[in-house]
Amino acid sequence: MRVTKPLLFLLLPTCLLLGSFACRAVAPDSENGEPRQQVKYIGCSGTMVFHTTDCRYREIIKPENRVEFFSLEEALGADYRPCKVCKPGGN
Ligand SMILES: [Zn+2]
Repeated sequence: MRVTKPLLFLLLPTCLLLGSFACRAVAPDSENGEPRQQVKYIGCSGTMVFHTTDCRYREIIKPENRVEFFSLEEALGADYRPCKVCKPGGN
């Protein structure tokens, strides 16, 4: 029993160190990735309506119905209708 205690003290900082290294290895990856296209509109595949990214109605879209568009043309081309509240596209 006397032997295991110092061992634990040695192992614990090692685990913590490894953990923070793992975090560091993962974090830049998500930031460093290719400069992704900005999502401009959020569509709902259930209602076939799309919204601006700051429309309050986009929050009620279920994650499984959520569709992301990078341009107005893309949304319209996919047969989505602009939301009447946030009016994507400006009219
Ligand atoms: Zn909307």
